[in-house]
Amino acid sequence: MDRPDATEIGVAAIRAALASMREPDGSPSLNVDEIADVVLEGGWAAVVIGREEPPKELLARAHAHLAGAFPEVDFEVRAGRRVFRGGRGFGEGRHVVAVIGGKGGVGKSTLSVNLALTLSAMGVSVGIIDGDLSAPDLPHLLGLHPKETPRDFGWQIMSRKVKPLSERARPHKRFDVEVMSVGFLVPERMAPVLAGRELASTLLSYLVYDVVWQADILVIDAPPGSGDELHAIAEELPLSGAIFVTTPQDLAQMDAERTLALLNEHHVPVIGWVQNMAELNCPHCAKRIDLFGSSSRLSEAGLAVLGRIPFDVRLSTAADQGRPLVLGDPTGPIAFEFAKIGSAVRQWLSERQN
Ligand code: ADP
Repeated sequence: MDRPDATEIGVAAIRAALASMREPDGSPSLNVDEIADVVLEGGWAAVVIGREEPPKELLARAHAHLAGAFPEVDFEVRAGRRVFRGGRGFGEGRHVVAVIGGKGGVGKSTLSVNLALTLSAMGVSVGIIDGDLSAPDLPHLLGLHPKETPRDFGWQIMSRKVKPLSERARPHKRFDVEVMSVGFLVPERMAPVLAGRELASTLLSYLVYDVVWQADILVIDAPPGSGDELHAIAEELPLSGAIFVTTPQDLAQMDAERTLALLNEHHVPVIGWVQNMAELNCPHCAKRIDLFGSSSRLSEAGLAVLGRIPFDVRLSTAADQGRPLVLGDPTGPIAFEFAKIGSAVRQWLSERQN
């Protein structure tokens, strides 16, 4: 069905609808001068509320109110750094899943890339965001080396001017998966202005909301640790759920426990955890060798094990060649394990309401 043009409804009608929104006591929810901007294009409209720290719930109510008044238009409601488009994720039925590891080097990027490709092979439309500001190497793992990065990205992000969809950035595409990275955003231009938590939340909200994704599921390779950057992600991004990846080492799991507490604090549900590099199959005698002592902290915390990825040197050589292992050996045991993880994630998301 063709969508009617939102421009025909007009800015004035949308402003009037917003101004008619009421609190339970009958007072207006918004002053007319708080409606800072309305941008219309095709069957789509963005509305900007001029408040810096609005409750999430206000955005959701404004969205429901507008959707009720103009059911044929897709609305995006913005205020400060918050955006709401309906649903639990970054739109109705569109999910953001964060891949998190307490420590760096536990296999977050490896899991993110191979999981995204596995979900894509299962017919899900997937995008992947490299959110690891300290080491944005995910494009490299996918063999993606964009020649050109728009030069004014830094300015666009800082200006916070709301653009119509047709003027927003498009993701790169590789192996049928959409890809964006903080590394594409020339962060050095912003470094003097923003750092830590603010840099992470500005860049990542930009990547989720100001890029025109076709994908229904965005996998974010999250920053390591449980510091400010992760707080920003947990608090400000529309995370449907998180996947932990750690080695079975007690120390790694202790770090993961701290991160788990952070997610609980921000009410981000955890889909489960993936044990990485737990074991090695000896190439000489085919015996299993345990590489770490085995810790059960995360299982005791009630997290489901989604899968176990053994140490396999092909995972790192495949990464260096820019062709992840699930593509290089799609019928092998590691691809099989990823298929198990992918099915569990898809199932978990489908059981959540939109
Ligand atoms: P993180 O994103 O947590 O920093 P990476 O995914 O970059 O971790 O992994 C760290 C290093 O370990 C990389 O060189 C990667 O290729 C390698 N690696 C990760 N998982 C495995 C595995 N199961 N077997 C062999 N090498 C692995």
